Amino acid sequence: MSDLKPPARRSSKPQQKPTVPAKSVSRAVRSRVPKPVDRATMVEIFRRLHAANPEPKGELDYTNAYTLLVAVTLSAQATDVGVNKATKNLFPVADTPEKMMELGEEGLRQHIKTLNFFNTKAKNVIAMAKRLVEEFGGEVPNSVEILETLPGVGRKTASVVVNIAFGDPRVAVDTHIFRVTNRLPLAITKTPLDTQAALEKLIPDEYRLHAHHWLILHGRYICKARKPECWRCPVNDLCRYPDKTIP
Ligand code: SF4
Repeated sequence: MSDLKPPARRSSKPQQKPTVPAKSVSRAVRSRVPKPVDRATMVEIFRRLHAANPEPKGELDYTNAYTLLVAVTLSAQATDVGVNKATKNLFPVADTPEKMMELGEEGLRQHIKTLNFFNTKAKNVIAMAKRLVEEFGGEVPNSVEILETLPGVGRKTASVVVNIAFGDPRVAVDTHIFRVTNRLPLAITKTPLDTQAALEKLIPDEYRLHAHHWLILHGRYICKARKPECWRCPVNDLCRYPDKTIP
C-alpha cells in the first residue's frame, strides 16, 4: 500500500476571485475624487478665464429682455444655432408678449417647428406671454423666483435671464457648468441646484456676473464631456481632474 495520497481533486466549481472589502472599494473610489480647489486657486482660475475673454457673451440672439426669455426657453434640448435660425424671422414680428399673443400658438409653431418639442414650447411661450401681459404689464420681472413660476421657465432659464438682462450675478447651471465645476473641481456637487448654490457662494464677487458665460464656453469648447482638450486649457496646471487628456 502506498503512503502517497492521491492528488487533491480540483473542484468543478469556478474559482471565485478574492472579494475586495466594500470599505476598500469606496476608499479607492474616494481617492480618485480630488478635493475642491482652494480660494486662491479659484481666484486664479477666474482671473485667467477673464483674461482670455474679458467680455464673454452668450450665443443666443435676442433684442430685449422678452426675446431673451423666449430664446432661452426655446433652447431647451436644442442648439443655440438652431434657436437663432428659428427666431431670426420670429422676433421681427413678435418681440413683445402682446405681439406674441397676436401671432398665436399656430403662428408661433410655424416659426419654431424645426426645434425639438416645438408643440409644447409653442403652448408654453403663448401661456407665458398671457401671464406677462395680465400680471406684469407686459414686462419681464427681474426675479428668479417669479420667473420660475412662468410656463416653461425653470431655475436655469430664470437665472440666465436675470443675469444677462438685469445684471444680477446669478450662476445658471447647465450640463457644461455642472461638469466643469465637478472636474476642476470648484465644488463637488450632485445636482445643478446644488452646483448653483455652491458657485454663487464660492465665486469671488468680481467674477460672479460673467462666471456663467466663462464656464459654459469653457465646457462647450475645451472641457468637453467625452474628451476634454486639456492640452489647450488655460487652467490645466490648476485642474485636479484625474482623467486629464493629452493630445
Ligand atoms: S485641464 Fe482638462 S479636465 Fe481640467 S478644466 Fe481643463 S480641459 Fe477640463
